[in-house]
Amino acid sequence: MKIETRAVHAGHEIEPGTRDVTPAIHLSTTFERAEDGTFPGGHSYARQSNPNRVALEECLASLEEGAAAIAFSSGNAASMALFQALSPGDHVIVAEDVFYGTALLLKDQLGPWGLKSSYVDMRDPVAVERAVTPATKVIWAETPSNPLLTITDIRAMAAVAKKAGALLACDNTWATPALQCPLKLGADVVMHSVTKYLSGHSDVLGGALVFKERNALYEKVRAIQHTGGSVPSPFECWLTLRGIQTFPYRVRAQSENAQRIAEFLSRQKTIEAVHYPGLPSHPGHRIAAAQMSSFGGMLSIQVKGGQPEAFKLAAAVKLFTRATSLGGPHSLIEHRASVEGATTRSPANLLRLSIGLEHVDDLIGDLEQALEKAAGC
Ligand SMILES: *Cc1c(COP(=O)(O)O)cnc(C)c1O
Repeated sequence: MKIETRAVHAGHEIEPGTRDVTPAIHLSTTFERAEDGTFPGGHSYARQSNPNRVALEECLASLEEGAAAIAFSSGNAASMALFQALSPGDHVIVAEDVFYGTALLLKDQLGPWGLKSSYVDMRDPVAVERAVTPATKVIWAETPSNPLLTITDIRAMAAVAKKAGALLACDNTWATPALQCPLKLGADVVMHSVTKYLSGHSDVLGGALVFKERNALYEKVRAIQHTGGSVPSPFECWLTLRGIQTFPYRVRAQSENAQRIAEFLSRQKTIEAVHYPGLPSHPGHRIAAAQMSSFGGMLSIQVKGGQPEAFKLAAAVKLFTRATSLGGPHSLIEHRASVEGATTRSPANLLRLSIGLEHVDDLIGDLEQALEKAAGC
């Protein structure tokens, strides 16, 4: 079945008693045992499982065409659990422009625990191969990357990982399974911040791991969650499953809007650079076109001048909201370096745009008036 159909039906079952079409929210933390000690409802305690979470996990596995999924309380909690399933002394390879939250996890939390990590330019498979050591267990790709929209060739990374005897994990938050399916391109695990496009309305914090196989790694990560407790609440699972029903249509519309806006911005003389893989001039355009069905709703721009000029432009928009995060119906603009803080690798003149579901003419009109206003004052 196509992804639009799976987004509506996977994990949605009519409840036998009430015949609810939209599922109920199960708030109970504990579930009754039968006289023989078994759990006929399939659940015992909410840290282990809950009906809303099981439904969401079934849906997430179906969307990514994996064998099993685990839903977490945030994207970072999902990444953390996967890294914790490794052992002290193990080594992971990440892109030098990996999501800054992932880099902080590795440096501040997992480094002191004994996990080693190397940062490489993932656009270059040879550089990744050179970074492999006998202890390498995971190659962690993120494509398109945040916030420079660099493109990693997932098939090439899968080949490097296979040769190294390591797993390929892919942060698929920005592309979503509507546009890119890493498990089909050779990845072993997909990570999501479901906070973004999947839940899609900027009202849920959530994360997920989807596994190609229901294997020992899956069992280990599941055990880490059972004891560690980084689970999403029933209401958050319900909201996410509700949001997912429309996500393929939302993402496609956001992608179309972003393409038009990227083309508009690349014609402006006060914009130094537009980073969007849908532009033929983007260095990763060819690879993106081979592994994505469309180029996504995120783009970033570098404003001529420096931080003051970038701030001036961000201050002049009316329809875009100045805020971090992405993937909601409303368009957002943010000065990335000041969000990321002291360790940022983002250029000082960079603004990141999450393109929403407003009409593209209104969004372009807003940017047009902001560019004029910023140039004039
Ligand atoms: C937001 C984000 C994360 C972290 O997810 P949270 O839900 O905020 O914990 C990880 N990777 C990418 C690419 C993101 O955009």
